[in-house]
Amino acid sequence: MSAPLVPLPDASTHINKYYQCHLCPKSFDYRASLDIHIRTHTGDTPFACPHCPLRTKDKSNLRRHIRRRHMPPLP
Ligand SMILES: [Zn+2]
Ligand SMILES: [Zn+2]
Repeated sequence: MSAPLVPLPDASTHINKYYQCHLCPKSFDYRASLDIHIRTHTGDTPFACPHCPLRTKDKSNLRRHIRRRHMPPLP
């Protein structure tokens, strides 16, 4: 039997050119930008998204994030 081997679709393809955050889907052109961004994960960020690894220090930011990323847009 010769079932066609279809490569698994990988949504998170690695693009070496960019510095990919390992805690969220964001990526950056420069290492420094990523370092600064990483602080948003490791710093004072008590509000964690229940749907993804995102954390934020601002409750309203989290609410906006959840509405934008995890809920279908309202008509
Ligand atoms: Zn991140
Ligand atoms: Zn989220």
